[in-house]
Amino acid sequence: MTLSPIEIEKRPVQAYRQLVDGRLGEAASAERFGRQSPAHDMQVGCYPLADVADADMAVSAARVAFDEGPWPRMSAAERSGMLATVADLIAANAEELALIDVLESGKPITQARAELEGAVDLWRYAATRARAIEGTVPAGLGQHMLGLIERVPIGVVAMITPWNFPFVILSQKLPFALAAGCTVVLKPSELTPGSTLRLGELLTEAEMPPGTVNLIVGHGQTVGQRLAEHDDVDMISFTGSTQVGRSVARAAAGNLKKVSLELGGKNPQIVCADADLDAAADAVVFGVFFNAGQCCNSSSRLIVEASVEEQFHKRLVELAERVPFGDPLDPATKIGAIINDAQMDKIETYVAQAISQGASPLCGTRRIDGGPGRFFEPTVMANVTSDMDIARDEVFGPVLSTMRFDGLSEAIAIANDTHYGLSAGIWTGNYDRAVCAARDLRAGTIWVNCWMDGFAEMPFGGMRQSGLGREQGAQAVEEFTELKSVLFHRGERSDRWVPNGHNRNP
Ligand code: NAD
Repeated sequence: MTLSPIEIEKRPVQAYRQLVDGRLGEAASAERFGRQSPAHDMQVGCYPLADVADADMAVSAARVAFDEGPWPRMSAAERSGMLATVADLIAANAEELALIDVLESGKPITQARAELEGAVDLWRYAATRARAIEGTVPAGLGQHMLGLIERVPIGVVAMITPWNFPFVILSQKLPFALAAGCTVVLKPSELTPGSTLRLGELLTEAEMPPGTVNLIVGHGQTVGQRLAEHDDVDMISFTGSTQVGRSVARAAAGNLKKVSLELGGKNPQIVCADADLDAAADAVVFGVFFNAGQCCNSSSRLIVEASVEEQFHKRLVELAERVPFGDPLDPATKIGAIINDAQMDKIETYVAQAISQGASPLCGTRRIDGGPGRFFEPTVMANVTSDMDIARDEVFGPVLSTMRFDGLSEAIAIANDTHYGLSAGIWTGNYDRAVCAARDLRAGTIWVNCWMDGFAEMPFGGMRQSGLGREQGAQAVEEFTELKSVLFHRGERSDRWVPNGHNRNP
C-alpha cells in the first residue's frame, strides 16, 4: 500500500499564547517549545512552556475569580448566553481549529471537521443545561422547618486533557463546569495544545470575565502534577491513561479534592452468526482503525462466533486492505498518522510479541518506511487468547485482536475478562441475545448493532479501571456541583437543649 503524496499548507508556524487571569501572554519563564506534524515532519506550532509558577498563578486567578468574581454570581441565563456566544465563535472558527488538530495530531481532516461539529454541539448543549440546575425542597420537615437542598458550584476545577481528541475532550468538560458556575484551569497535552490555546483568544473575544478560564501548557509531571496536588483546587477532571489517572488520584488525595477520571479501554465487539455480517464488519473496521486506533473507545478486541469466524475474517481483511490511509490533509483519508515515535515502537512491540506468543497476523503488521511521517498498516491478528498482552493492554494503534466463541455466555466472559470497562458492543439479530449482552457486559456504554454513536444527551464514562464519574448527559453539569443543605426555622424556638431552670451546681 502506498501513501498519498504529502501536502501541507504553506502557512507560517503558528505562535500561540497562554491565557492567565484574562491576559494572553508568555509563560513566566518566557520559554517556548515547538511541535512537528506527526504526518509531515514539519514544525507547525510554537507555544509558551508553562511550569509550576504558571500553574500557581493560574490557580490563584481561578481562585479569586471563584471567590470574588462575577462568573459564579451571575444568573444562569447570563452564563448560558455566554456559553452560546462561545459556541458561535467556535463554529465560526471551526475550519481553523480542525486544521490545527490535524497538523498537531495527524488525524484525518474530515474526521477533525466532524469533531469540531460535535464540540460546538456540546457547548450549545451545556448552554441549555446551565439553566436546568435545580435543587429540591423535601416536604414533611414539620411546621417550623423549611429545608432547601441546593446545587452549588464545586469551585476551582483543574482539567487535564490528552492528545487524541484535543478539542472534543475539552468540550466534554469545560462548558459543563462553566455552566455550573465553576472557574477553571485547563492544561492540554503538550503534543496537541494549539486548538486549546486558540480557544483562549475566542474566550477573550467573548469577554469572558478574567480568571474564569485559564489555559496553560506544560509537562504532565510538572504542571499536571502541580494542578492535581494543589490545595486551592477543589476538583480535578482528568482524561488520559489509566496509569497517569492513578497518579493524579494519588496527588489529589492531599486535600481530598473531588476526582473525575476518563481513562483507557480494551473494548470488545461481539459478533454473532445471526448478525448482519456486512454491517458488523464495517463497524469493526471503523471501531478499531478510527483515529488510527488511538482512541479510548477503540474496539481493539473482536469476539466472533466460531461458525462464521473464517468468513468474517476474510471480510475484515478485504476492508482493512481497502480503507484509505495516509496524508491526513487528503479529504479521502480515513486513517492518519501515529502520534510519535514512542507510540510507533510500542505498537510494533505488541504486534511482534503477539506473533511470538502464537497469534496469526491476517494483514498489516508493518510500519510504512521511506516517506515523512509515522504510519502503521491496518493490522488484524487472529488466534489471540485472553492471556496475551495484546488482548489485555491498550495498544493504541490500528491493531485488531480477534478471538472466537461458542455460546453467548462464553462471549460475555471473554468480553468481561479485562480490568477496563469503558465500552462494549454486540452484533446480533436476536433480541434475547441483545438484551442479555446489554445487561451482562460490564462497561459504561453498550452499543447494540452500532458502534461509537454518541450524543451530548448520553452520559459517557467508564467502569472499573476505565474511570470514575460521567461526562455529557443531563448529569454532566451536576458532576461540577455539590449539594448544600440549608435549614430554616420559623416561629419561636420552644425546645431548649439545656433544660430551663436546671442548675448544675445546686
Ligand atoms: P497520558 O495519560 O499520557 O496524558 C494525559 C494528560 O496527562 C496529558 O496532558 C499529560 O501531559 C498529563 N500528564 C502526564 N503525566 C502526568 C502526571 N504525572 N500528573 C498529571 N498529569 C500528567 O495520556 P495520552 O497519551 O495523552 O492519551 C491517551 C490515553 O488517554 C489513553 O489511555 C486513552 O484511552 C485515554 N483517553 C481516555 C478517554 C476517555 O474519555 N475515557 C478519552 C481519550 C483518551
